[in-house]
Amino acid sequence: MSLHKISIKKGREWQLLRGHPWLFSGGISQTASKATAGALVDLVDINGKFVGRGYYNPNCDIAVRILTVDSEQSIDIDFFVERIKAAAELRQRTLDTNSTNVYRLINAEGDFLPGYIVDYYAGNLVVQSHTAGGDCLLPDFLTALESVLKPQAIILRNDATARKREGLTLEQARIVSGAPSREVSVRENNLLYSVDLMYGQKTGFFSDQRDKRKLLGDYASRLPEGAVVANCFCYSGGFSVAMSAQNSNIRTVNVDESQKALALAERNLKANNMEMHNHEMVCADAFKWLESQRDQNNTFDLVILDPPAFAKAKKEREGALKGYSRLNQLGIQCVKSGGLLLTCSCSGTISLEEFRETLHEAAARHGRNLQLLEVFQNGCDHPVLLSAPETAYLKVLLCRVQ
Ligand code: SAH
Repeated sequence: MSLHKISIKKGREWQLLRGHPWLFSGGISQTASKATAGALVDLVDINGKFVGRGYYNPNCDIAVRILTVDSEQSIDIDFFVERIKAAAELRQRTLDTNSTNVYRLINAEGDFLPGYIVDYYAGNLVVQSHTAGGDCLLPDFLTALESVLKPQAIILRNDATARKREGLTLEQARIVSGAPSREVSVRENNLLYSVDLMYGQKTGFFSDQRDKRKLLGDYASRLPEGAVVANCFCYSGGFSVAMSAQNSNIRTVNVDESQKALALAERNLKANNMEMHNHEMVCADAFKWLESQRDQNNTFDLVILDPPAFAKAKKEREGALKGYSRLNQLGIQCVKSGGLLLTCSCSGTISLEEFRETLHEAAARHGRNLQLLEVFQNGCDHPVLLSAPETAYLKVLLCRVQ
């Protein structure tokens, strides 16, 4: 296989040799003039020695994403078949697929398939391609998905803003194969959720909170009678469903700025036979709602804060840290003394240490002290490469607020 060659600046190959899948544009010493966005390329060191094979994008700070370090490996349907099989096998081994039929089947770089996200929804697949190379290789990737998984349907959701980083346009969701129903019912830890595969947020459901929902379910059974939970940024209401399933006496207030999300949360509570008089749905900006609760001295046994990513790019980091500080200050002020706070950040550019420190500062400003009880990251179906810390994006801290 003869591909365009890109040579790496001296000393910039060591991270790649240790398993990192990205070469940043600053690490390129010389580019083959003909290599266009999405083209397969071979990376070579300063002496011309093969380092890895991947795809190139001159329009992105991540110039090359490595697909293989085996110089004999062709990038074709068979290549994707093997990688998809390995990813599927990991889920079969780590998840209880009897109680859960919704999970991330392919987590891009974390499953050695840069640029591709595939979520599994009870036999249906929702696929996202985030990169120019991913788009170019998409026909082979989709063929491999069909042949390994034989899904009922495949839906392509190239509407993720991550595509902008690669200079790609956002596309309308479209059905690639099958005839999926608009809303699919899935099971997570034996609880039912509706998912809109075409137009739901992201790919329709946030599987990355599965283990956190389960933990809060366990805690719920020990919450005092009549305990009230503020589920801020509730989307499909997963935390409320999981907690109410373990303790039908708790009350939840579900806050989201999207009326569609709240309607979905309500459908999910009802699908699991919850009494709606215990569950309030509030369409509001969570910051403003928390402010009003604080001003009225309303406090909760548990406050959940699961906002969307505040910082997708490095340049947004500072603003994002301020946002987390403000949100968590408000959240902390709304927790009863001795109550719980579950706070999340899915901003990949903010580290766990920074998030912890932001939280500590937020508490200290209001004379509150936090006991850290549990720390979570992405779930096991969102594997993180130790060689690429960037693949860890979710940070979730459970604290008792004194
Ligand atoms: N906790 C959810 C996932 C949250 S996704 C789950 O378990 O599934 C983030 C949610 O925040 C989305 O539903 C979005 O509509 C909502 N959102 C974004 N900005 C908001 C804001 N300022 N106030 C309230 N909700 C907001």
